[in-house]
Amino acid sequence: MIKVEKLHKSFGKNEVLKGISTQINNGEVVAIIGPSGSGKSTFLRCINKLEEPTDGKIWIKGADITDRQTDILKVRQNVGMVFQHFHLFPHMTVLENLTYAPLKVKKTTKSEAENTAMDLLEKVGLAVKAQEYPSKLSGGQKQRVAIARALAMNPEIMLFDEPTSALDPEMVKEVLDVMKTLAHSGMTMAIVTHEMGFAREVADRVLFLDGGVLVEDAPPNEFFSHPKSSRAQDFLQKVL
Ligand code: ADP
Ligand code: MG
Repeated sequence: MIKVEKLHKSFGKNEVLKGISTQINNGEVVAIIGPSGSGKSTFLRCINKLEEPTDGKIWIKGADITDRQTDILKVRQNVGMVFQHFHLFPHMTVLENLTYAPLKVKKTTKSEAENTAMDLLEKVGLAVKAQEYPSKLSGGQKQRVAIARALAMNPEIMLFDEPTSALDPEMVKEVLDVMKTLAHSGMTMAIVTHEMGFAREVADRVLFLDGGVLVEDAPPNEFFSHPKSSRAQDFLQKVL
């Protein structure tokens, strides 16, 4: 689904990603962890070209997105993204948030878009909020709407950048539960997270980034029980 080869990204003289190579297979759930500033967000943002890689290659379902000939808008339709701070459209109802992109980009009919949207809101437990505005929702509800909105485009890949970091503690679980259900449905997912329990339970693999280097790439049991590098050992000692 995703293949990354020798990915480099610099901002000016600051080299933030220093040659990352990995791949994420169909249906795999990958947790990306590491210290603040290690390049996790930049890595995720390169995958759907919200950042332009400085060097290296990235393929999404075989399409080389670093090739200028590739239609990135088309590729992006297949890659949903969920951010720490939700980014819902504040002037639209929950339902309109979900139907906006399908109507605009996919030329879906209104009734079809609304049916899909209501199904998704049902799945994240928020059908009753369809006509509310985002400002009326709690953080956990907003994030569940943001996930449903990304799913409304029917993507095959979902990227999450610290989806629970901005939430009050009591709202973290309701969002992780939605993500867990999605993971079990076979969605291909890359999740930047500080929720180590979730990573351990749900991820198929953990990618540990430090200083722009992919230091470890291992199944969660192996990573959490026997981290190989001293950098991962130090990190885990601080967070666990
Ligand atoms: P993480 O998500 O692991 O905390 P980031 O990918 O956000 O790390 O950032 C890694 C480094 O890249 C940081 O030093 C940050 O300041 C820098 N950086 C990120 N985005 C930009 C940008 N748009 N312009 C300049 N520097 C950036
Ligand atoms: Mg980040």
